[in-house]
Parts: sequence; structure tokens; C-alpha cells
Amino acid sequence: MTMAEEKTAPPRKRLFVSLMGLTCLIVVAVIFLIWWIPNRGLANIHPNLPHIVGIIMMSLSGIAILGTGLLVLTTALGKDIFFTRFMRLVVIKFLLPVIEFVGRLLGVDKDKIRQSFIAMNNSLVVSQRQKVRPDRVLVLLPHCIQLFDCEIKVTGDIKKCVQCGRCDIKGLVDISRKYKIDISVATGGTLARKVIVEKRPKLVLAVACERDLTSGIKDCYPLPVIGILNERPFGPCFNTIVDVSKIDAALSQILLLEEPAQM
Ligand code: SF4
Repeated sequence: MTMAEEKTAPPRKRLFVSLMGLTCLIVVAVIFLIWWIPNRGLANIHPNLPHIVGIIMMSLSGIAILGTGLLVLTTALGKDIFFTRFMRLVVIKFLLPVIEFVGRLLGVDKDKIRQSFIAMNNSLVVSQRQKVRPDRVLVLLPHCIQLFDCEIKVTGDIKKCVQCGRCDIKGLVDISRKYKIDISVATGGTLARKVIVEKRPKLVLAVACERDLTSGIKDCYPLPVIGILNERPFGPCFNTIVDVSKIDAALSQILLLEEPAQM
């Protein structure tokens, strides 16, 4: 794979799953050591104490292994098997920082881990097979999607775009009309949070870079967020692009449509 292809390759869950497996092994090893090291000392307190502590530690290891297996199975099958909502909590709040730490120790690129986390998060959201009415879905875009030289200000209302086709806002206006959904352009994280508070969506589909999507998914929990990465051919935050077909595909999976939508 060339460097250019590598940059445009779809984010893979495999990296996050591999790091998750490794983290699980480390957790199990730590649990074993916590039991094994004081084991001899525990026998002095009560002869049965080493067995009791051993059973507790084995149960914790079992939970870690089962949880990891369940997570891998849920994302692989794309089905809500058990506790998917709870697993999103575990992945977002606990596993991500640990996996970022393990990844850093192994020298894995931070953005690659974030891409993988976003793909894993999207799988978990979609696997819940929650169908949401178009008026309860919010699509959030970064302002850098708009062509820098465009004189029209679409931040307040993207329908002001005259659809000249020089940037992806044109395709996004089409999507907004096709599904009758709200699309907002946010000039930063603070404004994005304000829009979410005002519109009170049941699901957010956000377009951004790896860093902003990762922090957005974390900040919004328990609100489900589907993240779509933008491409930055001219560097960060300038004339970025997004694959509109990915947004269309994600929306068609989660929207509760009364009748087939027409372009
Ligand atoms: S499609 Fe054209 S009019 Fe619309 S925001 Fe982009 S550059 Fe401006």
C-alpha cells in the first residue's frame, strides 16, 4: 500500500481490537500477580483465604476476557448481543485511555488508534439498530468543510449555499433535503456543544478530524455519536473534504423513514 493509499484507507477496527486484546492480557496478568504475590502471606491469616482471593481474581479475569470477547463479537456481527450500551460506556470512558497508553508504549500512531476507536464506536452505535426520526438526528460539520474563498456564510444555515459545487457543502445540502434532516456547521467544540444542547438530538452524526471526533464522542456520551472522518488534502482546518456517500450510507442505516426518500 502506498503512503497516499494508506492515508485514504478506511479506518479499521482491527487495531483497536488488537490493542484491546493486549490490554485484556495485561489486565489478566496484573490480576494474577495481585493474587499470586501475597498468596503465601494470605495463608498465614486464614488457610482458606488464598482460595477465596484466587476465586475472586479468577472471576475478575473471566469478566475481562468475556467482556473483550463480547465486544469483538458485537462489532464483528454488527448485532446488539448483550449490554451494548454498557459496553460503549466501558470502551469510551475506561478502555480508550488505557489503550491509548498501551499504544503509546508500543509506538503506535495516536491518530491510527483514534481512527480505530471511532470505527469501533460506530459499530457499537449501529449494532444497537436504533432507528431515529429525521427530526431527532443532527449532522454536525466543521466549518473547514466550506471552501475558504466562498463569500456565502453557511455557519447559521447551510441552505444559504447556492450549490456551485466547489466544496462538499453542495452535496450535504442535497442530503439535508433528501432526508429532511438538520445539518449544522460548528466553528469549534464550544459551539458544537451549544448546538447539541439547543437541538436535543437523539443521535449525532459528526464530521471532523480524529482528535475532535474522539473528544466529541467522549463528551457526548451517553448520546450516541457516529463519527465520519474528514480528509485534509491541504493540511488541517483548511478546505477539508468529506465523502458525502459515507454520510448518506450512515443515515440510511439509522433513520426511521416513512417512505423511500427521493433526491
Ligand atoms: S458549494 Fe459553492 S456556494 Fe456552497 S458553500 Fe461551497 S463554495 Fe460556497
